[in-house]
Amino acid sequence: MQAGLFSEETPPAARAVRVLLDGMQDRVFDYALPTDAPAVGRGSRVEIPLRGRTTTGTVLGFSEPPPGVALRPLRRCLSEEPEVPPALMDLAEWAAQYYAVPVEQMIRCIVPEPVRRERHEEKTRKMVRLLQWPEDEALNKLNSRAPRQAAVLRYLHNSPEGREALSDLGGSSVLPSCRALERAGYVSIEEEAVRRDPAAGESFAPSEPLPLNGEQAAALEQINAAAEARDSRPLLLQGVTGSGKTEVYLQAAQKVLEAGRGVLILVPEISLTPQTMARFKSRFAATPGAVAILHSAMSDGERFDEWHAIRRGRARIAIGPRSALFAPVQRLGLIIVDEEHDSSYKQENSPRYHGRDLAVLRAKLEGAAIVLGSATPSLESLYNVQAGKYRLLRMDHRADGQRLPITRVLDMRSEPKDKRYLGILSERLRQGIDDRLHAGQQVILLLNRRGFARALQCPDCGYTATCAQCSLPMTYHATENRLICHVCGYRAVVPRQCPDCKGGGILLEGCGTQKVEALLRRCFPKARLQRVDADVTVRKNALRDILENFRAHRIDILLGTQMISKGLDFPGVTLVGVLNADLGLNVPDPRAAERTFQLLTQVAGRAGRGELDGEVMIQTYNPQAAAIQFARRHDTDGFAEKELALRQQMYFPPYCHMAVLTVRSEQEELAAFSLDTLYRRLRAALPPQVLITEPLPAPLAKAYGQFRYQCTLRSSSARVLADIGAREIAALGAGEGITITLDIDAYSFL
Ligand code: ADP
Ligand code: ZN
Repeated sequence: MQAGLFSEETPPAARAVRVLLDGMQDRVFDYALPTDAPAVGRGSRVEIPLRGRTTTGTVLGFSEPPPGVALRPLRRCLSEEPEVPPALMDLAEWAAQYYAVPVEQMIRCIVPEPVRRERHEEKTRKMVRLLQWPEDEALNKLNSRAPRQAAVLRYLHNSPEGREALSDLGGSSVLPSCRALERAGYVSIEEEAVRRDPAAGESFAPSEPLPLNGEQAAALEQINAAAEARDSRPLLLQGVTGSGKTEVYLQAAQKVLEAGRGVLILVPEISLTPQTMARFKSRFAATPGAVAILHSAMSDGERFDEWHAIRRGRARIAIGPRSALFAPVQRLGLIIVDEEHDSSYKQENSPRYHGRDLAVLRAKLEGAAIVLGSATPSLESLYNVQAGKYRLLRMDHRADGQRLPITRVLDMRSEPKDKRYLGILSERLRQGIDDRLHAGQQVILLLNRRGFARALQCPDCGYTATCAQCSLPMTYHATENRLICHVCGYRAVVPRQCPDCKGGGILLEGCGTQKVEALLRRCFPKARLQRVDADVTVRKNALRDILENFRAHRIDILLGTQMISKGLDFPGVTLVGVLNADLGLNVPDPRAAERTFQLLTQVAGRAGRGELDGEVMIQTYNPQAAAIQFARRHDTDGFAEKELALRQQMYFPPYCHMAVLTVRSEQEELAAFSLDTLYRRLRAALPPQVLITEPLPAPLAKAYGQFRYQCTLRSSSARVLADIGAREIAALGAGEGITITLDIDAYSFL
């Protein structure tokens, strides 16, 4: 049957629908709805006439056309049932208001691009084949002038078949490079038919539910009860790393499926999806297609298929990162947010929503149970437990009976200044790695790169320039040659020598993975070392392959960034070393200590997951820092108590809502001037309880060629910040050459 087709001759209808047009900032028009069009409802995707052409949109609701006005009729309804379920329409409207963004932006998240474009027939993919390896001279030229093209060529050169899918090379963003190579005759680009299974080529051996231990059984019982009662009060599952949270999720999901309802599972980011995905695919292997995977690296065709499989109820479990939160799971019974503290749940471009927070709302709208799981819950969630909004479930013991690893804090200040190790590797850690390698065991080394090489630190005593009023590290501003606090605006001169130990070596810190890799190769020439960072993992399956190799012990040392700190389970790892625990502390961010604590605790959880006991070594210049000491003792409660007290005293989240207002422009004066104007208007418009900081250049003062100026706002009401903020931004008008963003509940202060 053809879904609701209307002809142009439809007589003027008695009712009309209000349609939100695609791709325009909340342009809403009314269209006449023919009486014989029962299929159209709120959330329907429709085709409508607009200025002589046909465009698409989403029905927001019905409206009564004023008498005498002849509305143009809808052209066509794109499906029999509304594509966007009512609960997701509510979610979109609520989120748009909360985050002060157009509803259209939220709808765009809910109905992904391939679904909007309705590319049913898209069943081919682009394959890039190496035809010819360039001469040396041409290659050198490419290396220097078009490094991306050179990278594509090298990649194809190393590929076993000499050809790769464009999506594996980086997708549409590398298409221009591939086209250039095609014109030069080095590669060809072909269309190839594909099976659109994102997990194609992988097989999943069915897994049986494990008999649960007491803590797991108790947690499961609470979750099952909530799902059955359709109680959407969030359950915070605080379980130490290795306590068997995933097994609890699997059994809870099973139960919900048996009750004929659907499950949504959110995982932090693509890097983690494979392991969790594989565990779900295995457990539900008996029902092929039951588990749908959603992530942004999938091809359009894959996304289209998975989305429709979920929408039609064929797939009843959806797994994915942040954006999977909008998956149209039918009869939703349970939402699981794994590693709920993870900052990747916050989207860092517009709409800047928080996946966990919207998941909580979605559960409420749909009457689903929701579990937020973590070994190191966010202070937001712990605060909500204290406030009685969330219920706490705890699992304090490792499921496999293993002990938590012994953690040693290594004080880098007392290290001899040995040139060979560049202050990167202490003698204790070097010895530790050496011992493990000799014993045929594996090592994970973490290089914290969350930090931002703009804080000032003394290598002799660990002193960091900190704001006296905010207890946050101050940021060095080269233009003024001053240290400035980004919360209160306090300025200080840059000390020539360390105020604490009078040492003269005070410097801006910072150090990259590649430098560390080179050092490690010199120290351990025989070890098989693999670096993992954003540069290495641009290719779709690179991380998965590396992790597989590590698991199979074809790699001895894994050196990586945050990416390797979470969720991974390698029985052969007996030593985890954290090279620079401080870097994450020295960022101007109210959550710096929290993030450092979480990172250290998570990474420590990677050690000793097998038969052998694990050990963790944390190198630091600040051995007394609370984040480090509490992580050493795996003491989440102790840390939370201390940090919450501090946040309350400072009036930081979760005791307030904090928003960041940023103005960007290629012209510095324009950015500064616009923010100043906005700041003055906001001060006048906002209630006096709202704190607003003086406008300043952002810690990341210039990015992508644009100068960035910002100020922060704090209020007990996010609504006040969003409403008044959006109003004043609109009143200022979007000037030529400036971009203004308001980030409600901000997680990034750069
Ligand atoms: P978490 O997600 O809390 O870090 P996992 O679910 O990864 O923990 O479990 C850690 C390890 O313990 C895994 O190898 C898992 O198979 C095992 N495990 C989980 N539950 C049980 C159980 N009830 N009995 C035995 N082993 C278990
Ligand atoms: Zn300050």
